Amino acid sequence: MSNPRLQIDSTKIAENAALLIKMLKPLSIDVVPVTKVFMGHPVIARLLIDAGATTLADSRIENVERMRRAGIKVPIMLIRTPMLSQVEQVVLNCNVSLNTELSTIQALSSTAKKLGVFHQVIIMVELGDLREGVMPDDLIKIIKETRSLPHISLKGIGANLTCRYGIAPDHHNMAFLAKIASEIETKFQLKLDIISGGNSANLLWAFSSDNINRVNQLRLGESIYFGVEALKKRCIIGAHTDTVKLIAEVIESNRKPSMPWGKRHKNAFGEQYETTNRGDVDQAILALGRQDVDPQGLISPQGLSIVSSSSDHIVIESTDTPLQIGQEIEFKIDYVGLLSAMTSPYVNKYFT
Ligand SMILES: *Cc1c(COP(=O)(O)O)cnc(C)c1O
Repeated sequence: MSNPRLQIDSTKIAENAALLIKMLKPLSIDVVPVTKVFMGHPVIARLLIDAGATTLADSRIENVERMRRAGIKVPIMLIRTPMLSQVEQVVLNCNVSLNTELSTIQALSSTAKKLGVFHQVIIMVELGDLREGVMPDDLIKIIKETRSLPHISLKGIGANLTCRYGIAPDHHNMAFLAKIASEIETKFQLKLDIISGGNSANLLWAFSSDNINRVNQLRLGESIYFGVEALKKRCIIGAHTDTVKLIAEVIESNRKPSMPWGKRHKNAFGEQYETTNRGDVDQAILALGRQDVDPQGLISPQGLSIVSSSSDHIVIESTDTPLQIGQEIEFKIDYVGLLSAMTSPYVNKYFT
């Protein structure tokens, strides 16, 4: 096996997916697993389907196309507002997309009509986190227009919280979403099939609320892959939190002073740290750098700490025994770390 490498435990991820599907079923919430952190990797897509997912979601059309090429046939939802320049790929590969702009929905409509296909849309509503979403006052207008477009069907409404400002999904904003859904249904005499309430940050709300108020879908990534809810990073009881590790190799190991010498400027990344003299330390270099992973997403093993990182090197200090050349160091990794390491072509990916 080549280093650095991600070691991904498919069985644990599949068990987490099945567990969340089972936990949310009594609340009448469908789990739509989000594959973006794995770049739509077909191994992950297949295990999610085997675990019971009936729809998959991804934010990028390239990932969706990758899943389609691999023979994934289930409905796929695009969870980022489509680019105008990609509407053709969207209607050809995605059954449904989350939308916030009328001009984009119009383009989806005319393209779908031209290609003889149908496309479903979910309109995202702004609930306070100020990322994607139509302002509530503008909703009636966009829904009215959307309903008049050929080859488009309005599947529901949705929301996304927490990603920008950390705004928590709670009884108030979720009840507001449900209220808007009912108002739309009354006004237009229709039934909205999907109320897509949010992401892994919605789980604390979902599990603690005695009234989940019509929300019937959550789009889940982090909770499936890491076994935690995303708001306070609390573990989900019964879920695996050790699904992925990153392994890197030691290429230099020395006893060195902790104080640099010579005239100091900013480093290669424009940073300058306060340094205290801690005497000599056991310092090692890993063949791993910022081109492989965001070092902030790594959780060091006991006795080791990351003290510096640059493009190709991560410097670690060990408090126990000095490290050996060629030794493999195993890190736990969080969502941010996985996102970066999966996306790096230098990191090998192994599924077990
Ligand atoms: C990434 C994403 C999700 C999934 O988020 P997790 O926190 O990983 O569950 C859901 N919805 C949208 C719009 C996203 O971009």
